[in-house]
Amino acid sequence: MSDRTSQRALTARGKSSEVGRGTETPASWGLGEGQQIPWEYAPAPESREIVQLKSRYGLFVGGKEIAPRSGQWFTSLDPATEEPLAEVARAGVEDVNHAVGVARRAFKREWGDLPGRERAKYLFRIARILQERSREFAVLESLDGGKPIKESRDVDVPLAAAHFWYYAGWADKLEYAFPARDPRPLGVAAQVIPWNFPLLMLAWKIAPALAAGNTVVLKPASSTPLSALLFADVCRQADLPPGVVNIITGPGEIGLALIKHPDVDKVAFTGSTVVGKTIGKAIAGSDKALTLELGGKAANIVLDDAPMEQAIEGVVNGIFFNQGEVCCAGSRLFVQESIAEPFVERLKDRLSTLRVGDPLDKNTDVGAINNAAQLAKIEELLEAGQAEGAEMYQPACDLPVRGYFVRPTLFTNVSQSSRIAQEEIFGPVLSVLTFRTPAEAIEKANNTPYGLSAGVWTEKGSRILNMVSKLRAGVVWANTFNRFDPTSPFGGYKESGFGREGGLHGLLAYLDLRDGH
Ligand code: NDP
Repeated sequence: MSDRTSQRALTARGKSSEVGRGTETPASWGLGEGQQIPWEYAPAPESREIVQLKSRYGLFVGGKEIAPRSGQWFTSLDPATEEPLAEVARAGVEDVNHAVGVARRAFKREWGDLPGRERAKYLFRIARILQERSREFAVLESLDGGKPIKESRDVDVPLAAAHFWYYAGWADKLEYAFPARDPRPLGVAAQVIPWNFPLLMLAWKIAPALAAGNTVVLKPASSTPLSALLFADVCRQADLPPGVVNIITGPGEIGLALIKHPDVDKVAFTGSTVVGKTIGKAIAGSDKALTLELGGKAANIVLDDAPMEQAIEGVVNGIFFNQGEVCCAGSRLFVQESIAEPFVERLKDRLSTLRVGDPLDKNTDVGAINNAAQLAKIEELLEAGQAEGAEMYQPACDLPVRGYFVRPTLFTNVSQSSRIAQEEIFGPVLSVLTFRTPAEAIEKANNTPYGLSAGVWTEKGSRILNMVSKLRAGVVWANTFNRFDPTSPFGGYKESGFGREGGLHGLLAYLDLRDGH
């Protein structure tokens, strides 16, 4: 056990400032003033032995790992320690041209005409291998991305496999999915994904593309390339024909060169609204199909009849899952005024039990922020919130000395127009606002340029139906939050993008539907 690990374990005691979690225990624990909780979490670090990191990763093109023609490399860091993990190829434009050419040939010569039942076999194989290697993927995802191991293990990796299972099932049934429409693949798909769910976003993009008969060139985010490069190994293990999946790593400009390439038929992007707009402009006027899944500023609305404990857990999950680095995070909490005070008190109690620290510890709730730039952005918005007059609450807890960490944060006294209520913070920061009537909640919730997701907490079905029909968001959860399923379409509107991923809708984005009859 390292010193840092043991120190973090001790912090669970809510004991003294020497070990750090703070001197006060939450009132809901039923302890008298000054009493300390009588137990502590043992450290539970997941072993990283299962991941065999190479010192260098090339590009994955044509079924093999190749050195970049650019001759350049960059380093991927562990955000929890700031230590380098591996060197990764920095593709140049010539590498993009090569990868797209390879994907085009694979589409023409083999994959585009392969019967659906044959494509399905490969997708089933990939799903099975992801499950078999799930621990390896979970550890790597936490190492490279900073997310708690319990989330990569229980959410990211199982959901990624589930997407391959689900779309494998559709591969030989496209004509039943879209009857009388003669569904055909589009061709080569260029896919650019972000760093918050690297493997899961890869699965959201690659599984439907392959099921529909397209080939793929995918660019992961520069701060989290490693799980995509491990996925390249899964493709080899599954004997996927060379060139069907190609993975190129490099900076944003390479993503732009990729999506603009004239031989690309379909562009799928998940990331910031700013880059989404750049991409929209860059390919406007071309005949490329486009789906954009962008940012969000979701409202999580708690009505006065909501079951309090359940709603508290839902609010915590809504904003602190994956350190709040989630496009659909419930970053604006709207609580009905009549219950606001006790609700916020309970919420603060609950925040003080969150364990911040080593992403590989199985007891960690809030891991590392993904990269230094993101941490700086969060810190800047924390300052902006205070400068604009909001009250900031952070539970007492020590943060690890190295790495990109921030305390779970809650702001009260937030005005509708303040930056922390309007901008996507993409961190563990919750802005609390209040309302008197459901109509006021809806109006305030819709007062955002985004429209990705929302949540409603109430005991009455009629209130749910009323609010769901009026909230301008692509996904609305009722008495739950951040619930994902491959069969269910996900996407937004307004500045949150367009197009849907998941379900049959997700297939549509990769098909050319002609009139068959
Ligand atoms: P970006 O949108 O910049 O990055 C997402 C992906 O796009 C990455 O693969 C990135 O590559 C690539 N990219 C960057 N610039 C371009 C470009 N001009 N053309 C094509 N591809 C490009 O997100 P950031 O990582 O910079 O995060 C900034 C903010 O975006 C966050 O603070 C958050 O608010 C939001 N965000 C939203 C996400 C969502 O799911 N809605 C996900 C991630 C971020 P590279 O990594 O090499 O730069």
